[in-house]
Amino acid sequence: MQNGQLRHRDDGRPLAAYAEQVAVICPRCAAPGWVAAHWQPYQWQARFRCGSCGHRLEQGQWAGAREYRGHRACGHCGYKWVGAGKRFESAPAVPPVELEGCCQRCGWRGPVPVEVHIVRDGAAVDPHFGLALALQVDTRAGTVWAYNREHLRSLADFAAATLRERGPSVNRSLFSRMPTWMKLARHRVLLQRALVRLQARLDGLPACPAWPDPA
Ligand SMILES: [Zn+2]
Ligand SMILES: [Zn+2]
Repeated sequence: MQNGQLRHRDDGRPLAAYAEQVAVICPRCAAPGWVAAHWQPYQWQARFRCGSCGHRLEQGQWAGAREYRGHRACGHCGYKWVGAGKRFESAPAVPPVELEGCCQRCGWRGPVPVEVHIVRDGAAVDPHFGLALALQVDTRAGTVWAYNREHLRSLADFAAATLRERGPSVNRSLFSRMPTWMKLARHRVLLQRALVRLQARLDGLPACPAWPDPA
């Protein structure tokens, strides 16, 4: 505290540094649960166990958004780049092996073989499996979300500060990557209220299992 100002200094910690425990929604039964992860040089080992329905996910089983896309040559004019693609927010029951494409040059329509690509552009999803975060709340300015208690505490410290400083080279930090609206002084109280709601929701969740979970 200085001159009545509450200071916040960006320590440069990236979002990934908070990713060892992520509160998520079970994709099968919608109960809240935890993804537990461990950084083993040089990759994550992560697992999800639902305490309600027993649903399990192991490292590498992406359950979030994906896109099926591909291209082929036109069956009529020979134009090389007839593309097709479709996005799904979770794994489809029957994954497509081909989708209909349309030739930009001659209008021919036909089947295009497609392959799956993981989509990581969703903000409020866990980085390991792509599951929806349990700790997210919509405000009129945007969605506020957090992985866990520690992440929530960092956001609360940031929201409480009236004087925000950046350390050197913190371009990849949690705070430098935060949406602009969260950094605006006029949204400070809005952000704080959202974080209080998330804290209450967190307090109602079961504890995160420790890594390694013997189950
Ligand atoms: Zn479940
Ligand atoms: Zn064509």
